[in-house]
Amino acid sequence: MQDIVLSITRDHDPGYVLLAVVICALGSVTTMLLAGRAQSHHRAVWVILSGVCLGAGMWATHLIAMVGYRSDVPMAYTPVLLSMALVFGTLLTQLGLAVITRAPHVALVRMAGGALVGLGAIALHSLLMGALITPGQVEQQPALITLAVLLALTGGVFAGYFGFARNRAVDRVAGALSLMVMVIGLHFVATGGLTIDPTTPLPVHGTGVARNALTLPVVFAVFAILATGATSALFDARMARRTAEAAERFRVLTNSTFEGILILRDGRIVDHNAAAGTLIGVPSEQILDTPFLDWITDDDRDRQSVANALTDPDQPCQTRIDRPDGTSLDVEIAGRQMALHDGRPGQVVAVRDITARRKSEERIRFLATHDALTDLPNRRLFMELADKVLAQARRSGAHFAVMVLDLDGFKIINDTHGHDAGDSLIQAMARRISTAVRDSDVVARLGGDEFVILQTATTQPTNALSLSRRLMDEVARPVRLADAEVSVGVSIGIALYPGDGERVDELVRNADTAMYRAKADGKGAYRFFEPAMDAELEARRRLEGRMRAALSDGLFTVHYQPLVACETGRLLGFEALLRWNDPELGPVPPGDFIPVAEEIGLIVPLGDLVLQTACRDATSWPGHLRVAVNLSPVQFRRPGLVAAVERALEESGLPGSRLELEITESLLIQDKDNVLRVLDALKARGIRIAMDDFGTGYSSLSYLQSFPFDKLKIDRVFVRNIQSNDGDAAIVRAVAAMGRSLNMDVVAEGVETGPQAEILRKLHCDALQGFLIARPLAPPDALAFIETWPKRSANGTLPPFEPPPGGRPAAPH
Ligand code: C2E
Ligand code: CA
Ligand code: CA
Repeated sequence: MQDIVLSITRDHDPGYVLLAVVICALGSVTTMLLAGRAQSHHRAVWVILSGVCLGAGMWATHLIAMVGYRSDVPMAYTPVLLSMALVFGTLLTQLGLAVITRAPHVALVRMAGGALVGLGAIALHSLLMGALITPGQVEQQPALITLAVLLALTGGVFAGYFGFARNRAVDRVAGALSLMVMVIGLHFVATGGLTIDPTTPLPVHGTGVARNALTLPVVFAVFAILATGATSALFDARMARRTAEAAERFRVLTNSTFEGILILRDGRIVDHNAAAGTLIGVPSEQILDTPFLDWITDDDRDRQSVANALTDPDQPCQTRIDRPDGTSLDVEIAGRQMALHDGRPGQVVAVRDITARRKSEERIRFLATHDALTDLPNRRLFMELADKVLAQARRSGAHFAVMVLDLDGFKIINDTHGHDAGDSLIQAMARRISTAVRDSDVVARLGGDEFVILQTATTQPTNALSLSRRLMDEVARPVRLADAEVSVGVSIGIALYPGDGERVDELVRNADTAMYRAKADGKGAYRFFEPAMDAELEARRRLEGRMRAALSDGLFTVHYQPLVACETGRLLGFEALLRWNDPELGPVPPGDFIPVAEEIGLIVPLGDLVLQTACRDATSWPGHLRVAVNLSPVQFRRPGLVAAVERALEESGLPGSRLELEITESLLIQDKDNVLRVLDALKARGIRIAMDDFGTGYSSLSYLQSFPFDKLKIDRVFVRNIQSNDGDAAIVRAVAAMGRSLNMDVVAEGVETGPQAEILRKLHCDALQGFLIARPLAPPDALAFIETWPKRSANGTLPPFEPPPGGRPAAPH
């Protein structure tokens, strides 16, 4: 130790020692600064530069210290070894620094790299000592050499261990100090025991570079260190600017996207764009340095799949973020592994808001499986759901019902009030039906005014029955539309599982059949399916088909039944009655086909046919005879009735005063205002209006008063029992009296016998119609009737008229 202190104080010029220390400090600090940069970018560049600094620094330190060595012995260096010392010292320290910066977070690696740096210092020192040329014997103390080597190694290891532990200035200072200890310590300890004995001169090989001549190279070396440092600083500044620009670009870019972009290290958020905070629903500063997964989900399984997505870009995952404010968001998360600035691994994560995408996907799926008007499931979805219920029921032995509903009277409302009204009516009904069923039941719209229900109740048919009744009540309640209050009914067909079918489509078909039965039985009813209904439905379909064919083939004809005055027997006119004698079905009574024609709309062309035929035929009758034509309510509700009547009159040339139109009370119940308007228009053309079938329907006096009817026809059910039933007689008497007081003609229908005619005469009926006088007659027979009737009835009795033999076959009725 003494030797070392002595060597420094006695053997060296203090000025040079100070200079050596300054140079060493300069080199060490520059080295640490440059090597520190190697932890971010361009590691190789920084390692090379910092190695150059350290190598040059050590070399210069050593040489300046030797310049300051007080010795009279001339000293010189061999140029080759002198340069080799610089090269090897530099290369070894570069190697050491490369090792350190390769994995700075591993302490052992840092220490190993540090040891390499120490070896570099030792190699440099040894080579320089080897390069020394003196005339005397150079002696060194082995103990001090060992100590110097150990010191150099320790300094190197310390520099590696402390100087690069973290990225902080204090670590760099510690590193620089360690390096100084390594360089200065090595030199002065090793040279502490140095003696040059001039008494034993060494052979001098060549001349070498004189010690003092080295001041210049040393200045160069220092210059090199400074130049390197300055260049580096410039380079670094440019890099920093570029990095800052890149970072700014990245920020602008990431902030301009709606995607949340985050950078994670060890699962914690170290950086993110503005959108990330917005998506997570938390102010940006709150999410920094928090575990990413904690914001995403609590669910363990979700956490696992999100964690997978963070590292595998091929496995993006979808999840739902429950935000602190209570809202939630559907997101897609995709991540990618990458090296962060400090060389450690991390992840870039993109969080994408897919709520809108989800919604539109859901909407598309919804539209494909639901009815757009009512939002109810459509037929397809119903079949799917029903299939599941059926499979379940098959396993568990459960029962269920399939009910098909069809609104009664919907078409009329749709035609008279417009499609918008029809739509809102359907929507209202869909709501009522949906609320009437239980949650476990399935309601679907099959199209038009047809709905289907799958009722999964255990006690069938009781539950289906009570639901049907409830539905009929619900549907029948009036509905307020934009311009009117309307009401419809519903016909319901029910098929039960098991029993009425093994498959869903079979059950729906059978429920449909039962629904048609309910309609045929007068609507507003429910019917359970029975196998016999299949045949009925088949027959009904056949009837419809034949009816259309018959219309286009001209198979419909019109027959005429006379009406005569009660008192005198005088012929007043005829009622036109439709006849259909089908080659396949035989004669079909109007009571059978007219309701069907009304339902399928065929009554409109049929009605036009009757009007035109009746008007034409009536023109061949004497001018005082009228013709009466029946009108169906359906004809009234289609626009164009008045026009059709006018056309019939025009084409035939029949005066309006000779035409009479028969309507029924039911017509006045719905949409009375419209009907009255049409009746007024007809009446204005001189046409007479008769109230048909009076007494069978609502028989409300108010209907009679609300419109000036010209004629009242008492239904034949009152006439049939008029002899035996006093009540019927009383009704006929009252109606006759009322008709007279309202200035209407009163006609009795279905008069079959003389005594009936006698009683009716006494009850002051005005006219009679019935088989007693004649059955409905084919047009030529009607002409024959007109001719023969006055002679036959001249005696005051009413002999039944039969068509002359050889005439037409008896008309069905
Ligand atoms: P309605 O208007 O009451 O016609 C009178 C019905 O009574 C006719 O039956 C006629 O044949 C029948 N009849 C007449 N006298 C007697 C009798 O003494 N005894 C019995 N038992 N019946 C008698 P039809 O021709 O079978 O017509 C039935 C119903 O069909 C008609 O009842 C009418 O509501 C409807 N109808 C017939 N033709 C037409 C038409 O061209 N248009 C419309 N909309 N309905 C029609
Ligand atoms: Ca009639
Ligand atoms: Ca009638």
